[in-house]
Amino acid sequence: MQRTIAHRIGCVGIGLHGGRKVSLTLLPAAPDTGIIFVRTDLPGRPVIPATADRVGDTTMCTTLVGPDDAKVATIEHLMAAFALAEIDNVTVELDGPEVPIMDGSAAPFLFLLECAGVREQDRPLRRIEVIKPVLVEAAGKFARLDPAPFASYGASIDFDHPAVGAQALSVPFEPKRLGRMLGSARTFGFAADIEQLRARGLARGGSLENAVVVGPEGILNPGGLRFPDEFVRHKLLDAIGDTFLAGAPVVGRWTGHRAGHALHVKLVRALLADRTAWRYVEDTDEDFTIEAPSAQARVKVAATA
Ligand SMILES: [Zn+2]
Repeated sequence: MQRTIAHRIGCVGIGLHGGRKVSLTLLPAAPDTGIIFVRTDLPGRPVIPATADRVGDTTMCTTLVGPDDAKVATIEHLMAAFALAEIDNVTVELDGPEVPIMDGSAAPFLFLLECAGVREQDRPLRRIEVIKPVLVEAAGKFARLDPAPFASYGASIDFDHPAVGAQALSVPFEPKRLGRMLGSARTFGFAADIEQLRARGLARGGSLENAVVVGPEGILNPGGLRFPDEFVRHKLLDAIGDTFLAGAPVVGRWTGHRAGHALHVKLVRALLADRTAWRYVEDTDEDFTIEAPSAQARVKVAATA
């Protein structure tokens, strides 16, 4: 069944890129709402659904653009938390243009969701099953989705810096386990890029409190890394958050090499744009219902899982 949070809950933090203080409030939402953002500081309180077709900029973070050019930036770690907590319907109120960065990971949001509790709703959950491979590429990078009986994520990165280097990790999508494994992996950046990013109006709220910063001699954070492969774990977290912009959980094998927000979002768009590449599946307690989106034909098959 679909799930929302049991109680409203909120937090305050600063935006990574704008550096401004922002209040975030999560509220329970009706079945089939999905994840929606509301900019409470703007006239008319514009509502922006968290879906791939609403993504504008993907430079350094994923930004949604709604009516009257209302923007919500850095949504990916919060989206990853919803995916990992298996929360389908929530209204996210924000009084600024960016989701607070908190500690640079999804752990503070997972904690908020745990405190808010879960309410199961009276509508079955529809998942998006990948039935045909979909691939998007850019110079030396790619992201792809392949049909598979269960969701999984695999990422590899290759940075020309000895403190990061090449890392790869593949994991089945087991939400509770991944919450512990990936949830606290922080976003990262290179000290050498920071001045240039700030000149472009980015990373203004960035600090060692909310990002792993890699200097010429190694990690600058006094506490070091949370995991030896924290970088690739964070990549998987970003991939899970961005893929949740499909509007429903995606069942397939996700693979990315040196992919970032731009390719993550492009992949979701490419999947949804090809109606022969996916179909809705609805699971209930007794059986597994497959709904073909084109013919709207319902075929019931015995649960094999
Ligand atoms: Zn990230």
